[in-house]
Amino acid sequence: MTTANLLDFDLAGLAAFCERLGEKRFRAVQLFRWIHQKGAARFDDMTDLARSLREKLPAVCEIRPLKVMAQQESTDGTIKWLFDVGDGNAVEAVFIPEDDRGTLCVSSQAGCAVGCRFCSTGHQGFSRNLSTGEIVAQLWFAEHFLRKHLKTSERVISNVVMMGMGEPLQNYSALVPALKVMLDDHGYGLSRRRVTVSTSGVVPMMDRLAQDVPVALAVSLHAPNDTLRDNLVPLNRKYPLAELMAACVRYLPAAPRDFITFEYCMLDGVNDQPEHAQQLLALIRGQSAFYSGPSVPCKINLIPFNPFPDSGLRCSPRPVVLAFAEVLNAAGVVTTVRKTRGDDIDAACGQLAGDVLDRTNAAQRMAQRRTTETRPVQVVRRGA
Ligand code: SAH
Ligand code: SF4
Repeated sequence: MTTANLLDFDLAGLAAFCERLGEKRFRAVQLFRWIHQKGAARFDDMTDLARSLREKLPAVCEIRPLKVMAQQESTDGTIKWLFDVGDGNAVEAVFIPEDDRGTLCVSSQAGCAVGCRFCSTGHQGFSRNLSTGEIVAQLWFAEHFLRKHLKTSERVISNVVMMGMGEPLQNYSALVPALKVMLDDHGYGLSRRRVTVSTSGVVPMMDRLAQDVPVALAVSLHAPNDTLRDNLVPLNRKYPLAELMAACVRYLPAAPRDFITFEYCMLDGVNDQPEHAQQLLALIRGQSAFYSGPSVPCKINLIPFNPFPDSGLRCSPRPVVLAFAEVLNAAGVVTTVRKTRGDDIDAACGQLAGDVLDRTNAAQRMAQRRTTETRPVQVVRRGA
């Protein structure tokens, strides 16, 4: 029988677990703090836990970290870890240091079932959902590794973005307790504003997230009309723009910020033309053929496309990206161009396929799927 993994529990779950062992709730708080705040992995190290409990625990539970397969450090300070999650699957987490914050980009699934055209994880296909413990283990490891590495006892990771591999809202039941561990004052104590879930638009789960654990929300838009978005983000066929934009409006009253972040990956000749910028403005104002309704308070983050083999896509030239941003900014929509970090170690958005492709048949599976399921992307020719 496998023993319970304490990284699987939020504080309420751990309290229930302790109760089943005949222990009081405050023991759960102690345990939780040892694990998440101090990074303890062994019960023997938890010096203020009653000896009787310390002796009881190893038979029924453990703190089960992920195996680190590789660690790469970029010249810009970005660090990427590849974690083994068994059966030939690996997931990645990326630490991005900045002057005023430390951000960890966390994975929610091994692979992804959404299959976006421009995403290497999507090309890999879906292997499986991560458990809560496997999501939390990425933060647990990174935080405590970095404290040692940087020789500090202060918190290093101030922000978490669920922007690694996978679609977090398609792994909802594991995601929610993981977010709770991140936010809990006895856990990582992160502010709701500093934990961001990024989604390709799983509408019903956006509504549930607003109820259960409303953190900052980023929505991967990538296209201003349904035809193009159907092609780039296949989930759009299930939840088209009208539903997605309405869900964004419903999310905001519960959200810790008063705007949604829209991510928009800049693809040369595909979604980067001036008419796309105009369509995007109409869309967020609720004056589009694809969505009419209240305007959506938002910021737009333009992500230069990170190429990967066999994508068949190119990044928009820099002047095109800047011109696109200028149209939006001039219309009063705050738009930024994301800096690419960790490029030299393939840690940038959408490059997180790791070595997995080489060790599974995922590439073949996806190639087969693409030819049977997706229509070719419509390329708008420059000057045409
Ligand atoms: N599945 C979620 C979160 C993970 S992807 C989502 O799609 O939102 C995180 C972000 O990286 C998304 O905005 C995604 O669209 C973007 N992305 C994926 N592949 C990319 C690539 N090759 N270049 C740039 N951004 C990419
Ligand atoms: Fe999945 Fe997000 Fe990649 Fe789309 S962009 S395939 S939803 S991980």
